[in-house]
Amino acid sequence: MRKTGTTLLLFIILATVALAQGPHRFQPGFNLFSKQQDVQLGQEAAAQVRKQMTVIHDPVLTNYVNQVGKRLASAPEARQSGFPFTFEVVADPSINAFALPGGPMFINTGLLKAVDSEAQLAGVMGHEMSHVILRHGTNQATKAKMIELPAVLAGQVAGGSMMGKLAQAGIGLGANSVLLKFSRSAESQADLTGSHIMAESGYNPMEMARFFEKLSAQGGGRTIQFMSDHPNPGNRERAIEQEAASLPHRNYGFQTGEFPRMKQAVAGIHEPPPRKAQQ
Ligand SMILES: [Zn+2]
Repeated sequence: MRKTGTTLLLFIILATVALAQGPHRFQPGFNLFSKQQDVQLGQEAAAQVRKQMTVIHDPVLTNYVNQVGKRLASAPEARQSGFPFTFEVVADPSINAFALPGGPMFINTGLLKAVDSEAQLAGVMGHEMSHVILRHGTNQATKAKMIELPAVLAGQVAGGSMMGKLAQAGIGLGANSVLLKFSRSAESQADLTGSHIMAESGYNPMEMARFFEKLSAQGGGRTIQFMSDHPNPGNRERAIEQEAASLPHRNYGFQTGEFPRMKQAVAGIHEPPPRKAQQ
């Protein structure tokens, strides 16, 4: 009897430890925006991005980021969010990508040139996608403008524009916008959720950690904008590694087979000088 009791206790302890180490599940934080408002805001902002940046219409590059992006978007954690993800390539030499609320993602040619494998690109894209799923942009805007936003969001502006409403609350889309520059806890959540999306898509999550490691090793050069927009929450590589180890075992061999063709196509793109250098 006593032996059974001890065994049971041991089992409970082990099960608790396993649960504590299991994959993290994050939920979006407090938000004054509706999901539909995230989508509307992102679509308006994307239209502005397309006017200000050079969107690349190379069929090889466009197809490639869409293949990888759609693979990630069909992973359960991404699909369940219900957000309509889109993927476009912009001519910009800095190593970066960004996703707007509700799903539009822009991938710099500088990032496509810097990744050593498709899984590394999938790592950055899965990380960006996680900011969208967890609604970090509008959550941060909510926290920053808790007083102003209720009236502004309920109010009427010409054409019902979300960007117009946010401008009234003092929120823009420029450098260091609250919508695109994330807190360390948001970064940590995006790393871990991104690792799930990668794993569910057949990409080894460790490649995200490896790519971040490579960027930090290169130092804070002005072309590595990603590290400034997505600051290291601390022990980044180790945290991704631990999360990856807690996921169910899967085969991580997925590849579209188009990586070499993408590399060849992007090598032929000559970007304008970095925006930072122009300022
Ligand atoms: Zn981030």
